[in-house]
Amino acid sequence: MYPLIIDGSRGEGGGQILRTSLTLSAITGRPIVLENIRAGREKPGLMRQHMMAIRAATETCAAEVTGIALGSQKVTFRPQTPPKHANYTFAIGSAGSTMLVLQTILPILLSKPASEPITITLEGGTHNPMAPPWSFFVNAFVPVLRRFGVHLDAKLIRPGFYPAGGGKVEVTLRPSSTGLVACDLLRAAGEVELNSVVEIAKIPSAAGKREHTQAISLLGQVHGKTLDRRHLETITYEDALCAGNIYGVRAKHRYEDAEFAEYFVTFGERGLSAETVARDSCEQFLRWDAAGVFAGEHLADQLLLPMALGGGGRFSTLAPSLHTTTQAETLALFGVAEVGFQERGDDHFDVEVRRLGARPPGTAKGGEETARRTL
Ligand code: AMP
Repeated sequence: MYPLIIDGSRGEGGGQILRTSLTLSAITGRPIVLENIRAGREKPGLMRQHMMAIRAATETCAAEVTGIALGSQKVTFRPQTPPKHANYTFAIGSAGSTMLVLQTILPILLSKPASEPITITLEGGTHNPMAPPWSFFVNAFVPVLRRFGVHLDAKLIRPGFYPAGGGKVEVTLRPSSTGLVACDLLRAAGEVELNSVVEIAKIPSAAGKREHTQAISLLGQVHGKTLDRRHLETITYEDALCAGNIYGVRAKHRYEDAEFAEYFVTFGERGLSAETVARDSCEQFLRWDAAGVFAGEHLADQLLLPMALGGGGRFSTLAPSLHTTTQAETLALFGVAEVGFQERGDDHFDVEVRRLGARPPGTAKGGEETARRTL
């Protein structure tokens, strides 16, 4: 089958287009050539975590691969089998994000119904800047997967903060025997239950107390409810290899009888005051709350793939980020889904995901066979 050529510098032009392309190649069986990988980034080409994402995708479909090397800007990936359900272990060998490797292979494993649980063990960073932190994954992403019909047990065995890493997570998937289901997630405002959450390692606890105090002052009254001492959580990691601090605002909400949450995090950094860190998360929450949508910026781009693999659906979100629009373009490029954006109001969009037959563009018979085999 002729390969799909993907220009990795398109749209957002970072690691996401690489990961999503690997995922969709493994699912559809369509070989790919990825060029200009991360061309616009300060250190272009593959980094260790991208190499691990390629290796992880390779294991799921016995792909033939060329171009895996640090800094490489061109990779070819040719799946040899449909995705295999098995237990997988991946050690990234640096603080590279375990969550981004998981983001690559989870949809592959969910793309076909399974009868047995699958365990994925990952070692590396668990709380990395510019990636979904573990706390976002368990609080915001897992409930959405549940709505798609996937049950997942997620265990943080050891935290891995940047730059030392050394974390370990274990995820046991119980994909539904019927595959992912279609759903609409069109929340428009409503009650929320707020928590102020400090995650901290090897840093004086005063920083966390200041973050909580800032949240109480900024979010003290939301929807007539008071955020007070009862809503503060502090998680202290004694076993982290290096110092780290992440501040999160968790907003639980109910939608059509199911419980969901949005989770807004900010990473503490040298030179940033605890008050600034907490303020950033509070402002992310306030923007989402004012818009009354289902998905915040990050959940939106991460929702597209599972929704496309299920029967499609709709969700409401903020003005789409470049990650979201690039993800939509990549789904269309593979012929897996068509994504439409409709502006409903100030910072409020409805996103419609319509599943296609995964027919490669310029369709050939081979593409139709692939679609029938895998989707
Ligand atoms: P890339 O920058 O292309 O490697 O993609 C980064 C991925 O991490 C995207 O899916 C982002 O939505 C996700 N991400 C980055 N920061 C956060 C965050 N604070 N919370 C949740 N997801 C995030």
